[in-house]
Amino acid sequence: MAHDIERSKLQVEQTEEHKPLIPLKELTFGKHFTDHMLTVEWDKQDGWHEPHIKPYQKLQLDPSSTVFHYGFECFEGMKAYKDDQGHVRLFRPEMNMERLNHSAARVGMPRFNGEELLKCIVELLRLDERWIPMERGYSLYLRPTMISTYPTLGIRAPEKVLLFVIACPVGPYYSTGFKAVSLLATSDYVRAWPHGTGDTKVGGNYAPGVLPQNIALEQGYQQNLWLFGKDEEVTEAGTMNFFMLWENPSGRLELLTPALNGLILPGITRDSVIQLVSSWEAEMKIRVIQDKITMAEILQAVHEDRVIEMFGTGTACIVSPIKCIGFKGRDISIPLDPQDFKSEAGHLTKKINQAIMDIQYGVVDHPWSRIVF
Ligand SMILES: *Cc1c(COP(=O)(O)O)cnc(C)c1O
Repeated sequence: MAHDIERSKLQVEQTEEHKPLIPLKELTFGKHFTDHMLTVEWDKQDGWHEPHIKPYQKLQLDPSSTVFHYGFECFEGMKAYKDDQGHVRLFRPEMNMERLNHSAARVGMPRFNGEELLKCIVELLRLDERWIPMERGYSLYLRPTMISTYPTLGIRAPEKVLLFVIACPVGPYYSTGFKAVSLLATSDYVRAWPHGTGDTKVGGNYAPGVLPQNIALEQGYQQNLWLFGKDEEVTEAGTMNFFMLWENPSGRLELLTPALNGLILPGITRDSVIQLVSSWEAEMKIRVIQDKITMAEILQAVHEDRVIEMFGTGTACIVSPIKCIGFKGRDISIPLDPQDFKSEAGHLTKKINQAIMDIQYGVVDHPWSRIVF
């Protein structure tokens, strides 16, 4: 029988040279990696091999490996947080494991036992603990990745795979308070389509996003807003899920986000925002609705002053307020917080950010935050 990943088989080779830590102020996202990495190989015959933790190092791959030719690749993004007591925490990590399995299966790669991989990741965190910053807003970003190392130019399901996890310390997305972004909305390019791969984190979804992103940058926007179809349905903001707080046409307060229809990446932050704001319904009178949002509805609502806040969500930023959408040669302004001119985020946006950070850093007890040691 083919084997699954097992923590009990983990082999550890510690590094002899510890790299100097990067001063917190000098952290740039995804540039500085910790001392160790986790690797697990898989082949069709034997299944998952024993996991290894070893010094962070280069990979040696056959140039014919199908990851290079056909993009057999998928990945995750998650963070480890250190709380005030020095405990290390993960935020809903079982969801990252589930999603990696889902992405892997979509590109013909094998599934694995998520809880066992998590136990191995925890061992990596123990060895690299000095890299996990303690300050609120700082964390250790984890990048589980799966690639096909199957050496063939034939297009078929990989018979050899490498799963690896690397880690890099990251700083707060906003060091000096929220900065709202402006987005360029166009239908010139589409990110995802029905029955495609938009609901998976496969590498092939991201490289094609760079051209529209660059076009947005050239025109003075920070990111592109992905639209889909004749109705110019809003799907995602760059690589973030999209949310809008508005008064719907019948005057009800709603937090609206596109439904998971296959075009939307099922963000863990998205799900957390939906659950948190739903739990505040009695207090805040905001109903959470997952439904289609079209540019026509947004234009009309902005025109009638019914849009209250707009933001994107993702692990990197938690929330990213949106202040402007460029669309068909016009700029549509989105309100920020009228009560607080210094802040570029609305009241609900700030409240969500605070609530999620309090859970991640263990300021409040919540089942979403898993203490790992
Ligand atoms: C990863 C990702 C998100 C955010 O997902 P989280 O789990 O909240 O980090 C949103 N959209 C896209 C396209 C993504 O790749």
